[in-house]
Amino acid sequence: MTTRTTIEVAGLDGTVVALRRELLEGLVSRLAGTLLRPGDDGWAEAVLVWNGMVNRRPALIVQPTSAADVAAVIEFAATHRLLLGIKGGGHNIGGTALAPRGLTLDMSRMRELTVDRDARRVHAGPGCRLSDVDRATQQHGLATVLGFVSEVGIAGLTLGGGFGYLTRRFGWTVDNLEEVEIVTADARVRVASRTENAELFWALRGGGGNFGVVTRFTFRLHEVGPTVHGGLIAWPFERAADVLRTYRTLTLGAPRELAVWLMLLRAPAAPFVPEPWHGRRICAMSVCYTGDLARVERVLEPLRTLGEPVVDLLRRQPYVEVQSYLDATEPKGHHYYWRTEYVAELSDELLSTSRDLFARFTNPAAQLGILHLGGALSERDPDDGAVGNRDVRYACGVLGMWEPQEPEAGAYRASVDEAWRRLRSFGTGGNYVNFQLAEDDHARTVDAYGKNYERLRRAKAAYDPGNLFRVNRNVLPAT
Ligand SMILES: Cc1cc2nc3c(=O)[nH]c(=O)nc-3n(C[C@H](O)[C@H](O)[C@H](O)COP(=O)(O)OP(=O)(O)OC[C@H]3O[C@@H](n4cnc5c(N)ncnc54)[C@H](O)[C@@H]3O)c2cc1C
Repeated sequence: MTTRTTIEVAGLDGTVVALRRELLEGLVSRLAGTLLRPGDDGWAEAVLVWNGMVNRRPALIVQPTSAADVAAVIEFAATHRLLLGIKGGGHNIGGTALAPRGLTLDMSRMRELTVDRDARRVHAGPGCRLSDVDRATQQHGLATVLGFVSEVGIAGLTLGGGFGYLTRRFGWTVDNLEEVEIVTADARVRVASRTENAELFWALRGGGGNFGVVTRFTFRLHEVGPTVHGGLIAWPFERAADVLRTYRTLTLGAPRELAVWLMLLRAPAAPFVPEPWHGRRICAMSVCYTGDLARVERVLEPLRTLGEPVVDLLRRQPYVEVQSYLDATEPKGHHYYWRTEYVAELSDELLSTSRDLFARFTNPAAQLGILHLGGALSERDPDDGAVGNRDVRYACGVLGMWEPQEPEAGAYRASVDEAWRRLRSFGTGGNYVNFQLAEDDHARTVDAYGKNYERLRRAKAAYDPGNLFRVNRNVLPAT
């Protein structure tokens, strides 16, 4: 605040805008929701994001309760040329939810949800977390494609493309998106679908928060579970060569109802891990099989060749539990530094490189992971939605994690970068926009979209020519 009557807020293009208090009061008078300033009740929670490494903070937060509120804020931000951020579940690793010293729309109060069982649709507010949607839809034995850590926001995940254990059956999350309600940069509330504002809808299917503020998502639902076969199973790291090869065999022959994530990590000191194994290196698989349960033994047969596991939690259980059992592995507030690539195949060289890299990590919490994708993804054309990347079979990544104040943080970071440099040579050239770090350059965003990037730029020019929505992995408007 420069004086008692003005409030300084970051503007577009690096400017600082001194807002007169009456202007803010005028905005508040138009809102059913709340405007927060530092120190207000609810401020600390509103600025909290999952990655503790993110230290940017906004100057103002608005928590809207309707599309009309969102439209009022967008109009205000556009008029005064304010830097505007959008917070869904706050899980973006680069902290893109928060506009540094700007204005942030925190969508957490728009968390309503309706399941239309007959039409097989769920209508979800942009403040919903994955578990809100999974829990509500599973009551009807239905689900859409969402990720596997339950506190992640549906908004950010969906707009970047979205994947999870059901991707192999039903594609990217955005392949299951039917319609959105969105407020665009001109403060108009619009509906976008394959038949209405179709180009905007195309862009939203992967193009992130570049095109406006989504105020409602409608997803298609499928019959899933509610009981599935899943859980964790792990072997000693000394068996890594066999485990990795078997993982490749299992995933190459897998039906679409099976998705298996592989993780090289140190065993947590959890009650389900025998004590002698706490802190020791293991190879773990996280399994989700949503097909005919009578066939599961046959489907998982390749795992039998691996002998006695050190942990075996594979069993029949509710799908919602499978969707949340990895929650504890990514606690909020730790420092996270990830590097990931999409890969088309698991070559011998990639597997042995992964094993060697993991053996050398000094960061005790570091993991090397491989996510199993493919299946239904590749059935659509590469330009069916901005998300692209329909040639991927796996996502591969190095995940660094440490406590705030960790003295070795610099070295841990460097080792993630070094490992990533080695893994990149196995990549498809694409990458997942939702896993990009704040440090990643613009070229990485262009690579994430490949041939779809130029079309995204044209959509950006049509719907946000002034680039109001730039606190994100930014698509530059075509000129
Ligand atoms: C622990 C963990 C597990 C993950 N697992 C998966 C997974 O299984 N599958 C997967 O696909 N991804 C996964 N991700 C990545 C995840 O998709 C991204 O982090 C995503 O950005 C999170 O969305 P959010 O709403 O929580 O994020 P936020 O940080 O709140 O938002 C991210 C960005 O989304 C945009 N945005 C948010 N809300 C809106 C809105 N209403 N309208 C327009 N734009 C908006 C904004 O640009 C914002 O900067 C995971 C991330 C973490 C941290």
